[in-house]
Parts: sequence; C-alpha cells; structure tokens
Amino acid sequence: MRLARFDGGKIGLVVDGGVIDVSDIAGASPEAWPDTAPLRLIRDFERHRPALEAAMRERAPVPLADVRLETPVPWPNKVIAYPVNYHAHGQEMGASYRAKNQGFFLKPSSSVSGPNDPVELPSVPGREVHHEAELGIIIGKECRSLPRERWHEAVFGYACLLDMVVRGREERVFRKAYDTFCPVGPWIVTADEVEHPDALSMKLWVNGELRQAANTRDLVLDIPGMIATASAVMTLYPGDIIATGTPEGVGAVQDGDTIRIVIEGVGEMNVPVVQGSRGMTEVFAEPYVPPIVKQELTAK
Ligand code: MN
Repeated sequence: MRLARFDGGKIGLVVDGGVIDVSDIAGASPEAWPDTAPLRLIRDFERHRPALEAAMRERAPVPLADVRLETPVPWPNKVIAYPVNYHAHGQEMGASYRAKNQGFFLKPSSSVSGPNDPVELPSVPGREVHHEAELGIIIGKECRSLPRERWHEAVFGYACLLDMVVRGREERVFRKAYDTFCPVGPWIVTADEVEHPDALSMKLWVNGELRQAANTRDLVLDIPGMIATASAVMTLYPGDIIATGTPEGVGAVQDGDTIRIVIEGVGEMNVPVVQGSRGMTEVFAEPYVPPIVKQELTAK
C-alpha cells in the first residue's frame, strides 16, 4: 500500500485513481497537535489492515490533482542519517571515512517537510546549499538491539528523501538542521511492495538536468547494517526515519529551482526551491566553497 497524508493532516491510501481517505480508520483529526496519528497507524498497521483493504475496495478515490500531499510522518521521534554511504560520494567530497566506520547523525524532526513544501534556502552569503537524494526508510516497530538478520522486522516502508545541507566544515547537524531541509514523500510504500530495497535505482534532477543517478546496491553500509547500528544505540520507534545516504552528484540549488527525485518502485517528488531572508548566523561568517571532485554517474 501507499500511505499518504494530505489536506491538513488527513490520512489516505494512494491507488491508481487517486487518494482514498482513511482518516477515520487511522483516527486522524485535523485539530490534533502534535499530529501523531501516522505514528499510531504505522504501529497498529496490521490490526487496521482489513479495514484499510475494505476501504480500498469500497470507497471512491479523490484524484491526486485535487489534493495537496503532505509529508507522511510529520512528527517522527527522530530522523537518523548515515553520512558518506556511497564510495563515489566519498570520493567527490574527499572524505576518508564511510558510514560503516563513522556511524550516524540526527536531523531534527522539525526539518521534515513534504513534497509540496518549498525548500527555503537560508540567507547565508558565501555558502552553497546542496541537494542529497536518499532512500528513506520508515521504521514500523519499536525495537532495540535488533540483529541484522532480523532487519526486516523493523521496516514499515520506504519513501523518497532529500537531505539538504549548507556546505561547510562546521558541525554537520547544524548545517543540516534548517526547516524544510528534509523533504520526505510523496507517500510511504509499505515494505511488502518493495521486494528488493537493496537494488533500487535512484535519480535526481535540478530543472531537468540529471545530477544524481545511482542504485541502492552500492550502499556501503547496507540496510540491515543501518538498522542494526541504529538500534544498537537507541530504541527505534514506529515512524522513525532513516536517511540512508546520498550517492555522487551532489550540488548547489538556487531560488526558483525544482528538485526532482525518482526512486524506482517508491515514487517521485518535485520540490520547489525558494530563497528565504532568514537563517544567517555568525557561524557562517566565513565563505566556503566545497572542493567537489566531479565523479562519473555510472550506476543505473
Ligand atoms: Mn545525507
């Protein structure tokens, strides 16, 4: 199934004809704050599955063009992100480490935005804001110390994810924490519909120019390893999001750009970029130009 959130916190299932509203089954109410209904639906998904399947048979979909899709999990307990998890990206960044010997960092949940929410560039003169196309994993079950052989027990589904970043040498979390720096969507595809998450083609364009083209088979730390590593340290909760790392081809975006990300079998987002007027801090007083070493886009 494809689980979406739309029109101010409604929850829906995406089918060929559009979105079927299942807010009543999910217990979603627009006035609830924080909006944690998606977390409970993910936790209790198997219990709700018969009612959801009945809704897919019996209810009429609203065309996608008539709704506004929002990020499917607006209040994750955490967003876990693995840095330098493709060798060719490590080469372009001149990084000697890889996620396998580095571990993860966290992005604030407040950085999460949706497929129709513009990425707001902070006003940080002398700096570049880069796109990072990533496969997002949505956790489905509370777990701790899950061994890698049991990784699939933890996974609810997959989504497209953009890990936006101000390039620089300052604290990584700081540079990746701005509001709208973590678009996730356009929906969650449940794990049962993604047979080979370790062999998904992933591409990113800016204004129609292909910038990133890779395959999740080239992940350095694989999906079982990412789940085992994170759950060795922290309890994972339903709705937690893992940003699995970006391949080569990262680059700057500017006001008016559109970032298009497509992940095979998962979905597509076309995210607008707008220049904001806020966000400057003395931390970014020194200009910085990233010494990116251009890599061939090889994987398909
Ligand atoms: Mn990243």
